[in-house]
Amino acid sequence: MGAQQCCDNPTHKTNSLQIDTGKRGKGFSGGDNGPVRYVSANANTPSYEAGKLATQQRAAVRRRSSGEFNLPAHHNEKQLVYPTDPISAVEMLRAGNERFVNGKVLAPHRNMERVRNLADGQHPFAAFLSCADSRVPVEILFDQGFGDVFVVRVAGNVVNPEVTGSLEFGTSVLGAKVLYVLGHTACGAVKAAATSEAEDVPGLVSSLFYHVQPAVRQAQGKVEKAVEENVKIQAQQLAEVSPILRTLIRQKKLVVVGGVYNLKTGEVQELITIEDIPKKPSE
Ligand SMILES: [Zn+2]
Repeated sequence: MGAQQCCDNPTHKTNSLQIDTGKRGKGFSGGDNGPVRYVSANANTPSYEAGKLATQQRAAVRRRSSGEFNLPAHHNEKQLVYPTDPISAVEMLRAGNERFVNGKVLAPHRNMERVRNLADGQHPFAAFLSCADSRVPVEILFDQGFGDVFVVRVAGNVVNPEVTGSLEFGTSVLGAKVLYVLGHTACGAVKAAATSEAEDVPGLVSSLFYHVQPAVRQAQGKVEKAVEENVKIQAQQLAEVSPILRTLIRQKKLVVVGGVYNLKTGEVQELITIEDIPKKPSE
C-alpha cells in the first residue's frame, strides 16, 4: 500500500499504518471521537519486516522517515487504532514511547466518555509485568490511556504464580497481543538484592531477593547489568513456564518483549523479543 491521504489537505500524506474500519469488539469502545479502528501489520508498518517483528532501532528509523509522529494537529490520532496482531501491538507501544520522549504525547483515551464506554468490559492490547517504582507509570510512558494496557506491577518485576496467573488472564482471556516485561534503570529491588542481606531490609522485602538473584549472579553484582539480565530472565520464564503463554506464542497470537525504561531519558530500550518457542521432543 502506498501513501495514504489523511485528510482533504493534499499536503498531508502518511504512509504509516494501514487502517481498516472494523466492527466494534464486544465490551470495547473506540477512541474519544468515534468507533474503534483496527490495524493489522503490513509492509508499511514500521515494526513489520518480512513477516516478523523488526528490531526497535530499524522500526524507529522507518517511523521517523515516514514522519508518523509529526502528524498535523488536526489529524486526530486520539482515535487510535486497535491492533489485531502482535506486531501491530508492539508498534503501538514503540510509537507511544517515542511520542512521550519527544514531547508529542496524544494522551489518548483519558476522558469520561472512555471511562463510561469501558464500564462493561475491557480489551487491552498489551499486558505488562513492570516494577512497582513510582517513576515507571506504564500508561504515561507509552502514551496510552484507560483500557489500553493490563498492568501487573511488583517490585523488581519478578514472576511468581500469582503474577503468571494474572498475565495469563490478561492475554488468553482479555486478548492482549504483547506481553511486556518492563524493568528500569536504578531499580531499588535489584540493587537491594545485589547489595543487601535479608536481615538488612525490613519485613518481607527480602522475599523478592530469591527471584532477582539469578540475574545478580549472571551480572556479577553489577546493578545496571543485573536489571537487564533480570528482565530477560523473567521474560523467558513467563514464555517457557506457562503452557498457556507458550501456546499463544506458538499460535502467533502473542509476542513477549522485555525492555528497560531509562529514568533519565524516558526511553524504553528493548532487550529481548520472544516470537517463537520451539517444541521440545517431549511435547
Ligand atoms: Zn524497580
